[in-house]
Amino acid sequence: MKKNNILIIGSGITGLTLAERFASVGDNVLLIEKRNHIGGNCYDFKNKSGILIQKYGPHIFHTKYKDVWDYLSGFTDWIGYEHRVLGYIDEKFVPIPFNLTSLHKLLPEKAEHLKKKLIKTFGYAKRISILDLKKYKDNDLTFLSDFVYKKVFLEYNLKQWDKKPEEIDSMVVARVPVVISEDDRYFSDKYQGIPEKGFTAMFKNMVSSRNICIKLNYDYKKLKDLSDFKSVFYTGPIDEFFNYKYGKLNYRCLNIKFKTLNREEYQPAAVVNYPDLKYPYTRITEFKKLTHQKHKKTTIGIESSSDKGILGWPLLDDKNKKIFQRYWQEAEKLEVRNIYFIGRLAEYKYYNIDEAVKRSLDLFNTINYGGEK
Ligand code: UDP
Repeated sequence: MKKNNILIIGSGITGLTLAERFASVGDNVLLIEKRNHIGGNCYDFKNKSGILIQKYGPHIFHTKYKDVWDYLSGFTDWIGYEHRVLGYIDEKFVPIPFNLTSLHKLLPEKAEHLKKKLIKTFGYAKRISILDLKKYKDNDLTFLSDFVYKKVFLEYNLKQWDKKPEEIDSMVVARVPVVISEDDRYFSDKYQGIPEKGFTAMFKNMVSSRNICIKLNYDYKKLKDLSDFKSVFYTGPIDEFFNYKYGKLNYRCLNIKFKTLNREEYQPAAVVNYPDLKYPYTRITEFKKLTHQKHKKTTIGIESSSDKGILGWPLLDDKNKKIFQRYWQEAEKLEVRNIYFIGRLAEYKYYNIDEAVKRSLDLFNTINYGGEK
């Protein structure tokens, strides 16, 4: 192994960004991946019917960071797509995040009064987390927050996390706020889109450099000595790296069942959420609606989560956050040996795609141009 080599463990968005950056300055990069494909949970491919589907559920790129948008735009053109989600609540399709349109559809008698109260209290176009809304001591707001909590959040969380909303980090439910306007976009970021030929095609462009060697179906534990490399970037689960010595971190795992139907269209939006416990799944994605693909059939992915399967989301409750801190202290010590822990699994963080890219760009810039390593 040449001394200046970079080892990257895991080819999700974090590993791919790091690989691209180091290769671009002439480093030789070995990128190893346990699965049989690159792209981590953003991986997409054409199924037998020729429909582009995302193997691990819906991923939509959105960011407020111009540098991240510009960086990825170097590897793909974009389908201009703004994500809009509907929730199936009380036998009606209503916008999620819950907004003033959802209010009118679900509580038509009370809507005007509640809308005025919301605007007077918070201001038009404000976005507020359900957990903050619940704190207001006002009869109307209490009525409304109880309603939204029950209809949109409580049962969805029981299915998604096996926890109530207040039992996990408050940033999790705050990702989907109550919106005091008719804005029905799921994300309010300036830049949004789906890579024109899919995520996998974009990823392949990112790692097309001759300086990058990719090994699939390769477990890093096969490598005898990490000190053969100039730097190592570990993007896998942090607890696994340390042989679970402080206990296992809990992740919620993704279960997704695909169905291809002999009809052109299945549902009124790319993603429909089913918060109600009477449905055993959390959401259904109709992939053609993300990519605007024309096809006489359509494929849907019916999603649920459990504690077994493909690691999807860190379960950010107090117990796990404490365990993670112990691992992180160990990880920080390894930085002096140029072993870095980065990404959703290694940092046990609920990163979006753009945050993972940003973290990788920032770390690369610090190491390469910051001068301290
Ligand atoms: N959430 C909810 N009801 C919904 C949508 C989201 O309770 O209809 C909560 C739930 O806790 C979920 C979190 O908001 O885990 C974040 O939702 P998001 O759609 O961002 O999750 P992801 O796409 O990452 O699975």
